[in-house]
Amino acid sequence: KEHRVPFVVANWKINKLQADVADFLKQVNSEVPDQKIVETGIAAQDLFLANMVRDTVDSPIHVVAENVHWEDSGAYTGETSPKALKDIGAEYVLIGHFERRKFFNETDSTVNLKVTAALRNGLRPIIDVDEDMRTYAQFMDADPSVAQVAAALAGVSVDQIRNVTIAYEPTWAIGSGEAATADQAQKAAHLIRQTLAKLYSPVIAEQVRVLYGGSVTPENAREIMSQADIDGVLVGTAALDPKKFLQLVEIA
Ligand code: PEP
Repeated sequence: KEHRVPFVVANWKINKLQADVADFLKQVNSEVPDQKIVETGIAAQDLFLANMVRDTVDSPIHVVAENVHWEDSGAYTGETSPKALKDIGAEYVLIGHFERRKFFNETDSTVNLKVTAALRNGLRPIIDVDEDMRTYAQFMDADPSVAQVAAALAGVSVDQIRNVTIAYEPTWAIGSGEAATADQAQKAAHLIRQTLAKLYSPVIAEQVRVLYGGSVTPENAREIMSQADIDGVLVGTAALDPKKFLQLVEIA
């Protein structure tokens, strides 16, 4: 685990207006440590991203998109091109968040198209996996695999996988105030790593970061992040508050 840099990612969804965004960055920019110690990212609506890139030039914070289209350009009214995201300076993109799967018909196959489009354009995908692993953690020793991980990574090469982060976010934990226990989160993260080992190799599985997301707070983050297979957190509600965001970075 020592060779994987911890990663704390805020997901603001469609919260905050542009003045709030500027104000938040002003408060946290100089407080965030060097990215060799902890990496930090903030996912926000597309329309804020270019300003966020500008406002974080002197800060290690990475700018993260919340979604992306799978074609680089063309007649896809209302979508965001991965090439354009890269062009404005975004570095990461969330793909397959539970809310996208639930409200916007995101499927394993569109997730896969988006993952390959992001990688092709030099963006680093953070792939959300929301399968409920409470039940099949017990089968871990049998034939472990996480279907959403395998589907999302179809066609992703050994070289490309190094640029991928996987976030385990059980649906019941997102925005509910009920986080997974550290033990549940660890079991799921381990299952994801075993899936990566089967798809690639045990060595590569050790290099890919796996995050936990779902009702993370400064109170529960320490125990969750101390687990062997968990390399950081993806945080919605708590990360709307600059003080809590900085506390989470500090814990990481
Ligand atoms: C999320 O939506 O990615 C999330 C983790 O939200 P919350 O922290 O509010 O549960």
